[in-house]
Formats: sequence, structure tokens, C-alpha cells
Amino acid sequence: MSMKKKLSLTMAGSLCLILLLNIILSLYTTQASLRRESERKMLLAARQVAASIEQSQESAGMVERQIGELLHVAAKLAAKELDPDIQNITNEQLAKLSKQVGVTHIALLVRTGDDIIIAKSSEPAELGLSTKDWGYWYKAFKQLFEEERVTIPYGAAADHFWTGPFEYSNSKPNVIDKWGYYYDAKRNYIIDPYIRTDSLHQIGTHIPSPEEVLDKTKKINGEILEISCINPQTFAGVRMSGQGYVHDKTKLHNRPIRYGTYTYIDLENDKQAVEKAAQTGANVVYETRIDGKKLLKSFIPVNSASQASYIISIVMDYAQISKVLQKQLVSYISISAFLLILFVIVSYKQAGYFIRPIDAILGKVKNVAQGRFDTPLVINSKDELGLLAAKINTMTDNLSSYTDQLKQAVEENRSVKEHLESVIQQTADAIHTTDLEGNILQVNQAFEKLYGWSSHEVIGKRINLIPGHLEGEVQARLDALMQGEQLPAVETVRIKKDGTPVEVSISTSAVRDPEGKVVSFISISRDMTERNRMDELLRRSEKLTTVGQLAAGVAHEIRNPLTTLRGFLQLQEYNNRVDPKHNQIMLSELERINLIVSEFLILAKPQAVHFRNKNVRDILEDVLSLLSSQANLHGIEFVMSSQTDETDVHCEENQLKQVFINLLKNAMEAMPEGGVIRIELFRPDPNHLGITITDEGVGIPEHQMEKVGEPFFTNKENGTGLGLMVSQRIVEGHKGSLQIESAVNKGTQVTLTLPAAQPEHGEGPERE
Ligand code: ADP
Ligand code: MG
Repeated sequence: MSMKKKLSLTMAGSLCLILLLNIILSLYTTQASLRRESERKMLLAARQVAASIEQSQESAGMVERQIGELLHVAAKLAAKELDPDIQNITNEQLAKLSKQVGVTHIALLVRTGDDIIIAKSSEPAELGLSTKDWGYWYKAFKQLFEEERVTIPYGAAADHFWTGPFEYSNSKPNVIDKWGYYYDAKRNYIIDPYIRTDSLHQIGTHIPSPEEVLDKTKKINGEILEISCINPQTFAGVRMSGQGYVHDKTKLHNRPIRYGTYTYIDLENDKQAVEKAAQTGANVVYETRIDGKKLLKSFIPVNSASQASYIISIVMDYAQISKVLQKQLVSYISISAFLLILFVIVSYKQAGYFIRPIDAILGKVKNVAQGRFDTPLVINSKDELGLLAAKINTMTDNLSSYTDQLKQAVEENRSVKEHLESVIQQTADAIHTTDLEGNILQVNQAFEKLYGWSSHEVIGKRINLIPGHLEGEVQARLDALMQGEQLPAVETVRIKKDGTPVEVSISTSAVRDPEGKVVSFISISRDMTERNRMDELLRRSEKLTTVGQLAAGVAHEIRNPLTTLRGFLQLQEYNNRVDPKHNQIMLSELERINLIVSEFLILAKPQAVHFRNKNVRDILEDVLSLLSSQANLHGIEFVMSSQTDETDVHCEENQLKQVFINLLKNAMEAMPEGGVIRIELFRPDPNHLGITITDEGVGIPEHQMEKVGEPFFTNKENGTGLGLMVSQRIVEGHKGSLQIESAVNKGTQVTLTLPAAQPEHGEGPERE
């Protein structure tokens, strides 16, 4: 949902709430005022009823008084006619007398024990009625008999006479009677003439009865359902049974409902209301629901001048109030709905006006988030939003320039990385990196070519490049690297994928993370096969040259014994006999030839490379004997001495012989005038054997010292310039060193250092 919608919805929601509250409040107040109005109406009706009843009572009282007079006169007339003893009076006589004196009936009351009963009457239904239970009536009869004057407040009293109020007849409860009672002490009975009416209408002029008043009041006020005049003394008393009450023989005065009906019955609440109204003298109103109908009941106490105070109960239909409320609710709701719709439309428009800059900012932020920095934000307002927009524009500019820089840097990085990768890939040396467990992380093309493994076969795996007998040594190197040592390249052997060995020069370094912890190793292997082959070729060509050069010496060497042999053989032919002494000499000459030739062959023939522990002294002696004749020729003398008896070294005999021949020949060639060549053996330290060859030759000039030993550097007409170089290689192959010191015209000293032989154990060490 957009912010605009949210905002206008929120505002509409608030308004809705306010309107709702307003409706509730006004409904509540309307209801309250309606109720007040209804209460007022009920009170008014009650007052009207009370007044009308009062008036009707007053009129009735007047009629009553007239009837009372009438009865008094009738009673006196009857007294004159009647025998003082009741025994002499008959009911028929009474009926006749009634007509004479103008009353409905005449009854006679006598005392029997503590009761007063109707002994004679023109109305047979009354005969024998006891009056003991008639309350104040009985009291009045007793006073009449005993004191001849009645003092109770009801009815009207005169001397010897008392007339009771209108009352329902005890013998015919549905009619109203008015009785007169006369007793003059000359007789033993009370004369009771009475006038019977079905209603007060029948009595003289028309007096509206309370019932009529109630009916009329109800008719005028449509919402009044029922009016009851309640006698608070007897309401809900013994005469009220269950849900209602009965019009039994109860005296008018004692009736719980004096006038009107009582059909909307809520006895419990009504009783409380009646009690409260009677006690406080104030109105009591309460709401109730009877038979599903909502009602308002009002109890208004009335103090009457003519009779005992009573309570008027008015029942009003609540539907009337509800109807008004409903009407009001409908109109409220329709007005509210209209207002709400109007408000929503207006506020939506209004919100749009406020939200537009926020939308613009949001759009901009979205663009920035997607990396689009162009189109600056245009918000002209000077408020917080305008400020925010300006800040966002600045931020975006900065972000844009940073992003450009970053892109450039990334691009540079990428190209450098690519370049490095291609260098690594294209380089002729095989490169592979391994983790600390020996798993291969990366290899280049040269690696694939050299070892025969393709990158996808090896990455993430351990492959077996190292021959079994070298594993310890390799581990030792890795340990040293872990300790932080820098190691030079080593020449060694590795195993290709197809299992064949390959001669390589390997340099390994540790790769460390920024904390300095070793994380991987990078190894660069160079294929040495070709170079080693070249070395071998050089050695061989040098050897061949040497052999060629030696050949002349050899020819010369063997010519002398051959000449001797020939001389002796010619002498034997000439003498025709064999001299054993001559034979001995001949055999020794042949032996010498054999020795020279076999030495020469050893040198000339390519030999399998076999490292053995050999005595350097023996090797030197062999070489010297090979060179001795040539030395003699040039007047050169070899002098060999040794400072040590342990002159064994671990070596390849033929190669070492070649080194000595090269060095001694150079020395000899440097001394065309002859001289002494000294050969000395010594121990520079317990693990090495040193050999110096010192001549007294022409020496090497200072400026040539650097070039000496380079391939094909020679000062000689028939020189090859390979001798020193080959010698150096061989010495390196024996893990030894070769140093030359020289002084022009004084001589040259060549010092060889070779590792002294260790006690022999099985296989020879690797040639590295
Ligand atoms: P070549 O003997 O075939 O010339 P070498 O490699 O054996 O090749 O020697 C190279 C050069 O070094 C020689 O030509 C020579 O000039 C110089 N040289 C070597 N040994 C000696 C020596 N003992 N005294 C003087 N010069 C020497
Ligand atoms: Mg030489």
C-alpha cells in the first residue's frame, strides 16, 4: 500500500472513530433526554390521574354523604316499624320494609359470643355471615353496641349511627354497597339498611370512576401501556398470589391494586420500587423487560386528602423511545457516512500533496539502490523534506564517484589478476599449490604437461608425485618452511602420472595469510631432463676431445714398449733363439700397453652412473699414471702428498677421473717450460675432503677470471673451453665445490672440496 493511501486511511479511520464516538454520545444523551421526557410524561399523567381520582373521590364522597343521610333516615324509619326483639322479625317483613323506606335490602346484626353475625336479612345470601374478620367494620359494630358512637376514621358517624364507605359486598363481591348501621339500645340488634349499585354511575349524577380516569389517560398517552393505583400496605402481601392478584372479597380499602389493572408483572422489582417510593416519597423509575417487551416502569407516590396515600404505577412502552433513537441513529449514520466519504476524498488529495516529495525521494533511493546515480532529486520545498532531498543528492554524488573509483579499482585488479594468471598459466615452469594436508589447490598448464595430470584430475586431491624414499626429506623441507626458513631450489626426482620418474628442480615456498600463519605451499618445478641431458652431452663431447687429445699421448706411450717388443722380437729372429730374460721384459712391456689401453677405454666408453665410496688417492694415481708419459715429455713432475689417511669420497669414479684429467691437463698446458705440479689431499673439516692442484704455470689474468669456466672460453689454439665447465658440473653433482685462485706468471691453484664418504649402506644416495 502506498504511503498516501495509508495516510488518508489512517486519517479516515480516526475521523470514523470520532464520528462513531459522537454518534454514541449523542444517542446516549438523546436516550437520556428521551427517558427524562418519558419520566416527565409519566409524572404528569400520574398527577392528572391523582387529581382526577381525587376529584372523583370528592364527588363520590358527596354522593356517599347524601346516601349516608338517606340510610340514616331509612334506619330511623325502620326502627320505628321493627319489634325490639329480633325473634319477632321475619325476613319477609324486612323485604317489605326495604321497599317502604327506599333501600335495596335491610339486614339485622346480633351479637353471639365474641362474634357479630347477620341474623336476619331481606337478602338470603347474607344470612349467617360472620363479621369477625371484617377489620374496622367489626370494630365499628362493637362500638355501636357498646358505646353507641363509632370513632374509627372511615365512613361517617352520628349518634347511634355509622355508615361505612362504599365497599364491595361480602355476599356479592362484584357489586358495591353502601351500608348504614343503627343501634339505639332499645333493641338487641343493629339495623343495617343498604343501597346496592353495580357502579357509581348508577348513583345519581355521573361521577367519573377512577377506572374511567385511567382509561382516558391511557388513551391520551399512546405510549402508556398500563396504569395501576397501588396500595403500598398490601402490595405483594398475602393477597397477591403468584403472578397477580385476585378480586376476592377483599375490602376495597385493603385491595393491593386499588384501581386499574396489573398485567405487566415483575413482582420482585415492583415490590422494591413500591417500598422505596412509599418510604422516600420520591418517584422511582426502572427499566425492565416483560415477555420480550422493553418497558419503563414509574412509581409515583400520591398523598391524597380524602383517602390513604397510594402509589400510581405507570408502564410505558420503550419501543416509543427506541423508535425515536433508531430514527436519529439512521440520520446520524447517513450524515456521518457522507462526511466520511467527503473527508476521504479530500484527505486523499491532500495526502497526495504531502506525499509527492516523499515518493520522489523513495524513487530516488530505489534508483540509487539499483546503482543508477543520474537524475538528481528536484524538491523545491524549504522544509525538512527539501533538506533531506538536498542531503540525498549530495550523498548520491559521493556514492557515484566512490562507485566509479571502486569499479576502476576492481577492473584494474581483475586485469592484474588475469595477467598474473596467464603468466602463471603460460610460464614454462610447472606451478602447483597445495594445502597443509597436501591436497592440490591449483596447477598451471606447465604442471599438466610436466606431470601428465590434468587440472580437473588433481584439484582437491592428494596425488603421489614424490618417490617413496624421498618422502621423509620432502617432509623435512616442508617443516623447515613452516618454521619460516627460506630454502633454495633442489634438484630431485618426481613421479609422473604414468609412474615414470622425471628429473626436476623444485623450489617450494610457504604462503602465509595476513596473520602470518602458513596456509598453503607453492611449488615451482622445472624439468631438468633436458638440461641434464645437455650436461651429459657436454661431458661426453669434452671427454671425446680429451680422449682425442690423449690418443696422441697414448699412441706415443704404447709406441715405446712396442718398439722395445719389436727390437727383442727382431733379436730373437736374428739369434734364432729365445732368451727368457728378454721374454720377461717383453711381457712387462705388454702388461704396460694393456694397462694404458684399458685406462683409456674406461675414459672413452660411456659408463653407467654408479656412485660408490672410492679412495680419491687411488683415482688420482690412476690418472697420474695415464698422464705421466705426457708429463715426462714436457718436463713436468707430479708431486702428490696427503695430510690425511681417510681419503674416501662417495663418487662416480669415471666422472671424478675426468675432473682430475681436465684440471691436471690445464695445469700441464699452463707450464710449457715444465715444472712441478703439486697434488695435496687434506680435511678442511671432518665431513669434507679437500684436494688442491697447484701448478707453476702462466696463471690467469685478473680480467679473465670471470670468464674462466664459461662454456667455450679458451685461450688455447686447440682448446674447447669446456673442460672447467664440465668439471664444475660434476663437482656440483657430487655436492662439492671448485675454486680457482691464480696469479699471472706465478701459477694457479685449483681447490676441490668433496663430501667425505659416510659408512656405506646399501643403495647410494640420490644424485641431487
Ligand atoms: P681449454 O683447456 O680447452 O682451453 P678449459 O675450460 O679447460 O678449456 O680452460 C679454459 C681456460 O682457462 C684455458 O684456455 C686457460 O686459459 C685457462 N686455464 C685453465 N686452467 C688454467 C691453469 N691451471 N693455468 C692457467 N690458465 C688456466
Ligand atoms: Mg682444459
